[in-house]
Amino acid sequence: MPKILKIIQEKDPILRKRAEPVKNPGSPEIKELVADMVATMIEINGVGLAAPQVGASCRIFTVNVEDKISVFINPEIKDFSSDKIPFEEGCLSVPKIWGPVVRPKKLTVKALDENGKPFKIRAKGLLARVIQHEMDHLNGALFIDKAEKLFSIEEGEGKETRI
Ligand code: ZN
Repeated sequence: MPKILKIIQEKDPILRKRAEPVKNPGSPEIKELVADMVATMIEINGVGLAAPQVGASCRIFTVNVEDKISVFINPEIKDFSSDKIPFEEGCLSVPKIWGPVVRPKKLTVKALDENGKPFKIRAKGLLARVIQHEMDHLNGALFIDKAEKLFSIEEGEGKETRI
């Protein structure tokens, strides 16, 4: 049975470290971590979750957009669109804060799935947004570093997407 993991909060230094590449994708340990991350993401209604947010400093994130769950191991993003848009982001590791972040609208991402099989997709909309937010987590960045401004949850209740 997958476990529900504890979400690491903002001041923890693990969120500021560059996460390490996964050397054994598809192994039982990695499959277990991925299953626990997916269960945790669903339990807390997150649209995405990065491994450092559950205390594992490795290059994995999971995404739950439009009822589709995807797993990205050792992801690489390329071909960002030149058109950018702001979108109000919130983060599971930064409670009660949200703010607009400008990011490219579209991108291409290459990664390995939970079985270690390579795939490549072109993403747009919320999926492209979540992928970029999660990639930042793997590089030790948080949306509060990039937001144009920050608001407390009282002002933005219900508006934020927690990633
Ligand atoms: Zn986040």
